[in-house]
Amino acid sequence: MEYDNIGCVSSIHEDEIHHHNNLHHHFSSLKLKNDTNININSATSTTHYNVGPTTIIPAATTVHDLMECPVCTNSMYPPIHQCHNGHTLCSTCKTRVHNRCPTCRQELGDIRCLALEKVAESLELPCKYYNLGCPEVFPYYGKLKHETICNYRPYDCPYAGSECSVVGDIPFLVSHLRDDHKVDMHTGCTFNHRYVKSNPREVENATWMLTVFHCFGQYFCLHFEVFHLGTAPVYMAFLRFIGDEIEARNYGYSLEVGGSGRKLIWEGTPRSIRDSHRKVRDSHDGLIIQRNMALFFSGGDRKELKLRVTGRKWKEQQDPDAHVCIPNLCS
Ligand SMILES: [Zn+2]
Ligand SMILES: [Zn+2]
Ligand SMILES: [Zn+2]
Ligand SMILES: [Zn+2]
Repeated sequence: MEYDNIGCVSSIHEDEIHHHNNLHHHFSSLKLKNDTNININSATSTTHYNVGPTTIIPAATTVHDLMECPVCTNSMYPPIHQCHNGHTLCSTCKTRVHNRCPTCRQELGDIRCLALEKVAESLELPCKYYNLGCPEVFPYYGKLKHETICNYRPYDCPYAGSECSVVGDIPFLVSHLRDDHKVDMHTGCTFNHRYVKSNPREVENATWMLTVFHCFGQYFCLHFEVFHLGTAPVYMAFLRFIGDEIEARNYGYSLEVGGSGRKLIWEGTPRSIRDSHRKVRDSHDGLIIQRNMALFFSGGDRKELKLRVTGRKWKEQQDPDAHVCIPNLCS
């Protein structure tokens, strides 16, 4: 099988690729609900923080440090446990340590640390994706829920066809796709792709390809694949936007395929890579070419499958009242 690109500018500027930087971050300030501001610097242990107008308390450890499980370093949520000597640990770790305190090796018992749970209630913390741009601050116990849906959370690798567990921000994922998955990178808002298969009788299930396009300062994934719809193989092409769904709606795209005087045109909105490749495919949100039509477009004697997909992307004029609905033709 062969898949090549024609009519594309195939350069990508090196300076457009930024390397992934550290996702972990220590918050430098915590806020109490009663509007008392505590400035905490987790890098030093001698920081003093101001709790009331006059009180100065030397901080051996920060509140943030106290809320961190000393074993797994994750934030602790109720029930928070402690040993007879007062060493705390999270409930996940408690089940793993065979009833021995990991800090002092004494028997752990079953003591809850209500005081620390109460302290947590009074805290407000920034979202853990703060360093990726999330400006939001949450009560300690509401933070986890937000973080699972935070728009700034890292993206999963959009590469389909293999199990890839890499996550990261957009610049990191773009270099990951280029360097680790050897994905073709192109610049420009029009493209022209050819899919050629010498023996069209052979149809592998879920054969797919990915190309990344850079235009309007954004990145788009073009997926092309063959899969079975019921018993019949179909060919499908669609675009995903490397970014969130709200931003994806700012763009439109069209795909065309044809031959022998016939043409199929698909016009759509790219789906965010928050939606998995599989989900988009299964919702049929793209250009689908039935096998007979694909062979017809290939012309000639049906000895070779030759599809030429041309595409275009554009920026939409925003209509704030537009009714947005993601199709799912399967359900
Ligand atoms: Zn733990
Ligand atoms: Zn202990
Ligand atoms: Zn957030
Ligand atoms: Zn990957």
